Amino acid sequence: MTISGVTKVLALIGDPVSHSLSPVMHNGWIADHGLDAVYVALPLKSDDAESEIRALCRFGFAGANVTVPHKRAAASAADQSEGVVANVLRWEDDGTVSGFNTDGPGFIDSLAEIAPDWKGRVRRVLMLGAGGAAVAIAEALGPHVDTIYFANRTQSRADAAADALRAGRVLRWDDLERGFGAADLIVQATTLGMGANASPPWPMSAAKSTVICADIVYRPLETEFLRAARERRLARIDGLGMLIHQGARAFELWFGIKPDVEKARVRLIEALG
Ligand code: NAP
Repeated sequence: MTISGVTKVLALIGDPVSHSLSPVMHNGWIADHGLDAVYVALPLKSDDAESEIRALCRFGFAGANVTVPHKRAAASAADQSEGVVANVLRWEDDGTVSGFNTDGPGFIDSLAEIAPDWKGRVRRVLMLGAGGAAVAIAEALGPHVDTIYFANRTQSRADAAADALRAGRVLRWDDLERGFGAADLIVQATTLGMGANASPPWPMSAAKSTVICADIVYRPLETEFLRAARERRLARIDGLGMLIHQGARAFELWFGIKPDVEKARVRLIEALG
């Protein structure tokens, strides 16, 4: 790679960012297409991220990803944004910056990859969690399904997530067995299973044999939730699915090129070690 005065710079902005797989993913695609660009991670600790991102918008970046806890600030800092939460920023030719959210659509792409018929098949969704990722996925699924049950340790957060959606309902965190039995798609969108954050015993034996089980945690790649689903030979989506597809959509927004998702999966599995 030769970096010159015209090399395009892209960045990931968030806190923390040092363990992110996005630089590996995007620099891999940049190399695949021989682009004169580089993608770096910029840690931003701030109580006023909107101002800092607004200042950054004045530099000549080509694009940026924004991750927790700054996705709302990114949408506010952009000159125009498709929603109130943005994980992608794009610098336009006229000097303005646009905000996009590829998280929910990226999850849908990963679902369509393993179940192309999901729209006819998924009527009832059980969403484990009601944090930022759960809400983004539910917003993307919402128009295509009958019901999304939010089950969350903190009930008030589940209430708020469900209230915001036509299809939204609440299931008590201690009533998971009923939710597992009714769902066509179960999305594990809590931090449970990540690193040392041990999972409760998921009631996987109650699940239908046709259910699709998706976990968005990717460290480890096979979480307790996915291991339980594998033991029942259920259809499964791991956390790299959403990560890679949200990234592929971002890359296309910046460069107008659809990158190779399979190559990214190989590189990211290697990076996970
Ligand atoms: P967040 O907004 O902080 O939400 C965290 C969620 O986990 C909340 O529902 C929280 O419940 C729940 N939780 C945390 N500890 C728990 C525990 N001990 N028992 C039960 N529930 C617990 O985080 P987020 O941004 O939504 O991210 C959630 C996970 O998804 C993270 O692991 C993140 O790395 C992953 N993620 C993956 C992708 C991808 O592309 N694969 C994208 C985004 C996020 P409370 O409300 O009760 O605290």
